[in-house]
Amino acid sequence: MEQRIIAIVFCFLLLQFSPTHSNTVCIIGSGIGGASVAHFLRQYSAAYHPSPSPIAQINMFERKGVVGGRMATVTIAGETFEAGASILHPKNYHAVNYTKYLDLQLKKPKSSDDSLSLGLWDGHKFVYKTFNSKSKLPIVQRLVSLANSIMMFLRYGFSLFRMSSFVEVAVNNFLRYYEGFNSRPVFESVEEMLKWAGLYDLTTQTLGEELVKAGLSPLLIQELVTVITRINYGQSVNISGFAGAVSLAGSGGGLWSIEGGNWQMAAGLINRSDVLLHLHEEIESVSYLGDVYVLNSTQGKSYNCGVTVVATPLDELNIDFNPRISIPPRKLQHTHATFVRGLLNPAYFGLNSLSDIPDLVGTKESHDVPCSSISILKKHENDMTYKVFSRETMTDALLDNVFSTRKETIKINWAAYPHYHAPEKFAPFILDNQHLYYVNAFENAASTMETSAVAAENIARLILSRLSQGVGLSSLDLKRVGRDPSELHTEL
Ligand SMILES: Cc1cc2nc3c(=O)[nH]c(=O)nc-3n(C[C@H](O)[C@H](O)[C@H](O)COP(=O)(O)OP(=O)(O)OC[C@H]3O[C@@H](n4cnc5c(N)ncnc54)[C@H](O)[C@@H]3O)c2cc1C
Repeated sequence: MEQRIIAIVFCFLLLQFSPTHSNTVCIIGSGIGGASVAHFLRQYSAAYHPSPSPIAQINMFERKGVVGGRMATVTIAGETFEAGASILHPKNYHAVNYTKYLDLQLKKPKSSDDSLSLGLWDGHKFVYKTFNSKSKLPIVQRLVSLANSIMMFLRYGFSLFRMSSFVEVAVNNFLRYYEGFNSRPVFESVEEMLKWAGLYDLTTQTLGEELVKAGLSPLLIQELVTVITRINYGQSVNISGFAGAVSLAGSGGGLWSIEGGNWQMAAGLINRSDVLLHLHEEIESVSYLGDVYVLNSTQGKSYNCGVTVVATPLDELNIDFNPRISIPPRKLQHTHATFVRGLLNPAYFGLNSLSDIPDLVGTKESHDVPCSSISILKKHENDMTYKVFSRETMTDALLDNVFSTRKETIKINWAAYPHYHAPEKFAPFILDNQHLYYVNAFENAASTMETSAVAAENIARLILSRLSQGVGLSSLDLKRVGRDPSELHTEL
């Protein structure tokens, strides 16, 4: 307690001798959320309040030596792959615009290749397997794809179409977040944001409940849907309906990623947003001293900020907020990503040959299954690179059973995304009724690169509109501006 008082007095004295920065924005975290806040702050303040800009300086703090956060790559046996966030949906319009704006190259990930075979493993046998086309001839591949569609229809019937329309409705509602400022308000809470787009109700029930309501068969829910939620969120169909719809949308067609790594979106946005980037600088405390936030870092430095944006999940962090803030407790789901260069062991799956193992092994909910999925990232001449997702670490003994040979293995333990529930409880976007904002409050709805960007865009508008109300930037009204933000997007 005494130490805290001394620290506050010290910060106060420091402020007396340094210029206050009421229009300095400090962003904690350099992932897609933090980078998007910086980008939209610059874009919108330049477009709507060119001079003087309401935002003088943007400081960004990143505890690691690289930007991008959960968008990161891993290099195994000399080749680089996505280690965290890997796929984008064709309707992820912020990501699409970032890619154009930053002149990045699109790539179709291997996992979305239609010719890849899929198998559903229950821990003892494959309960369902699609045909595998070894031929490179397009006609043969098309025939195999048709046969797979027929086989899937025979197993799951019309429930497949009901699943598609469930996803389509959610995706179409989500598209409202790209509407212009004339029709789209600035949202002060996650609940308000979700209700406006007709998505809130989906966070009050589990995916399983929502899909039963939508008329899906129990078999489809227990098999294909479960496989998808386990791959995308490492969780069962007990996640909320909205997180589930996002997860299912991430298994459709047209998925893409960025050549060289998705992290380049964050790097490019930061580069182009006139940001003062502080790498290797972890923020330890945030103290509000009346009209300024003082951020203290592990480098022993202090920064004065008029606005502070938290662009990282707070759940496993030890940032000391003064005064204290209150957010609903949230557990993060850890996903262990294990990258292996080698060959799977057919005997582990009760098969005779390696070629009988599907390219993507999805798994059912069962104590007998040690992983959520195994996918091939690349086929090499004599072996492959695989990615294994699991809820627990894959021990070497287990890996020696699952694989017949392993040349190199890399294990990453991700504090990956929230452990979803229904009904979900949301932290506030504005943590203290002043200018302390929390982008990742939206992550309780769903966790993706695009949802982070969408939440960040709203936070940027919220900051600018609240600054305009509080510090007299009278002409800056982001609720009723004439120019449509979609124009800005096409310019990007
Ligand atoms: C294994 C895995 C697979 C995924 N797959 C996909 C996918 O295919 N598609 C998709 O869209 N999404 C996917 N996601 C989710 C996606 O990665 C996240 O939703 C998104 O990247 C979150 O971005 P963010 O900027 O909000 O947070 P983060 O990317 O976590 O960024 C936060 C940053 O803040 C930094 N930080 C934390 N504390 C401090 C501090 N005190 N001081 C300074 N810096 C700090 C962190 O180091 C980090 O760089 C996946 C995630 C994981 C883990």
